[in-house]
Parts: sequence; structure tokens; C-alpha cells
Amino acid sequence: MKQAVMTEPGKISFYDVAQPALADHDVLMQTKRIGVCGSDIHVYHGMHPYTSYPVVQGHEVGGVVVAVGKAVTKVKEGDKITFMPQVTCGECYPCQHGMYHICESLKVMGFQTGGAAQEYFAMPEWHVIKLPETMSLDQAAMIEPISVAVHAIARGGDVAGKRVLVLGAGAIGNLTAQVAKASGAQAVMITDISPYKLEKARQCGIDCTVNTAEENLAEAILQHFGPAKADLILECVGVEPTMTQAVEVARKGTTIVVVGVFGQKPQVDLGLVQDRELSLVGTLMYQQADYERALELVAEGKMHLDEMITHRFAFEDYLDAYHAIEDSNGHYLKVMIELD
Ligand SMILES: [Zn+2]
Ligand SMILES: [Zn+2]
Repeated sequence: MKQAVMTEPGKISFYDVAQPALADHDVLMQTKRIGVCGSDIHVYHGMHPYTSYPVVQGHEVGGVVVAVGKAVTKVKEGDKITFMPQVTCGECYPCQHGMYHICESLKVMGFQTGGAAQEYFAMPEWHVIKLPETMSLDQAAMIEPISVAVHAIARGGDVAGKRVLVLGAGAIGNLTAQVAKASGAQAVMITDISPYKLEKARQCGIDCTVNTAEENLAEAILQHFGPAKADLILECVGVEPTMTQAVEVARKGTTIVVVGVFGQKPQVDLGLVQDRELSLVGTLMYQQADYERALELVAEGKMHLDEMITHRFAFEDYLDAYHAIEDSNGHYLKVMIELD
């Protein structure tokens, strides 16, 4: 079978390798769709601090079960699936206390261990999430990033009836805003400095968009949310200017969820965090319950996903996906790799 290996930053080689062997608890998946995400792009640029080369990418995946080990009970041949890419130790404090997603020695498939960028991929059934037959393969590959958004929103508490501000309209910001809306938020506002990404957000049903390169965010908040401002803020970019915005525009007592991955250490005014009694909350990936919630939202038709898929490439053209992203001038949201 064909396997796509990122041998060094900016390079992908295709190798012919043996199909994975199947242990008793393993599921063999035929890979059908792979979403490219921001972290993958960091790996492509050699900027991901916790990934070494060579690496097989692929952690946002839709596929079909082609074989199962003899002890597998969760799925059968022909089932549509996606998977949770976390490899956890099961022994550390978080693992022992129901928080395996922040395992002390967490490895993620496609980064610290092999991902599914190959025609067939074997994994222990623990990782496997069975999908309804009605779900498309594109939707299947989007369950992982939706789960990131579901977990991020959950970290901010119940959003029903609340005014939610999402900073950043990239794929995760867009999905986070959509999940907030689908979870009963009274109003959702999303910001970016890219008119393209804000237009994408509107296409996905987030009507209240603010271009912070042109508009004053504090004024926009007063205008759209009123003097009560935002009840919950989610920073989905991972850079200092948006983190600063979050702290500055927060109403006293607000929770700010830090969703973005910071490449550089930001300077944040912790004096404001103290004086305004803000809660700064981190969020990392997800657990199985978040996948289940993501599945529900998609099954209920509450997520706009087609509008988010801006580019498609065949498996053989994997590298072109990255070139397209580089050449797009930021005009992309979700790039999908397709396998037959
Ligand atoms: Zn991802
Ligand atoms: Zn652990």
C-alpha cells in the first residue's frame, strides 16, 4: 500500500509499504479523507515543537473498516469510522482521573506517532468512533476539529442563553462559533482581520462578524451585545494581539478560554486578569464525550461544513495541498485530501 511520509519540512515522499498487521483488538481502516489542519501546516514548515521527522501525518480522518481483529466488538467490516488520535499512558495522574486527553506523556497520531496518511491504517479499537451510515466522508473527517470546538466551549461552561465572543475565524474559530450557536448561545460574534474568513463565517451561519483591522472591537461589543458585553470569550488564534484583546474587552468576571496554540510567548496584562477577576482557562483536544457531541451536532444538521472545505487534493498530490495553502494568501479554511 501507498504511504505518504513527510521526510523533512516541506517534503513528502510516497513509499510502498506492507499493509499493517492486525492484532486481536485492532481495526483496519481504509483511509478515505484526511483534513489538513493548522498543526499539520506547522509540521510542514518545521515549526511544530513536538514533532520530529520522518512523520506520517493524518489525524482528521474519515474511513471505512475493512477488517477487524478477533476480539473487536465496536465495529465491523463496512462501517464508516473516524478515530481519536490520542495515544495515552493510562497510568499518570490525569489518565487515572478521567482526563486522559491531558495525559502526562500524550502522543498524538500524525505528530509524535504515525498518522493515517496511508491507504490502510490499523489502530486499537479504543480509538475508533463508529459513524452513522448517513454521514458523509467529509463530515467524518471534520468530527475531529469539531470535537476540539465542543471541548473548548465546554471548558467555558454552559453557553445556553449567553453572549459568546470568538476571536479568530480560522477553521477552529469558525467551528467554535458554530458549536456555540448550536448549543443555544443567545448571540455569537466572531472576529478576524481577514475579510475572506469573516465571509466564510457568515456562510456558516455566524451573522455577527467584526473585522478588527477596521472596527473597534470594544465598540462593536457594546453595539451588538449591549452594556453587558460578552459572557464568554474564546481566543482561537494563538497570538499576542488577540490575547490582549480578550483581556481588554472582557467584562469583569468573564471567562476567557485559550484555544489558540501560541508559537511565541505572549505578553498578557495579568493585572487586568487580577483586577477584573477574569478566569483564564486552557483547553486541549477532547475526550470521547466530545466526539459524541460532535456527532450529534452533525447528525442534527447543525453544522455548516461543506462551506468550510475550500480545496481538495488527491492523495498523490498531498504536497500540492500545502503549496496551495502557501499560495492562497490566507484564502483557505479546510483543505481535504481524498483517497479512492
Ligand atoms: Zn487538527
Ligand atoms: Zn497518562
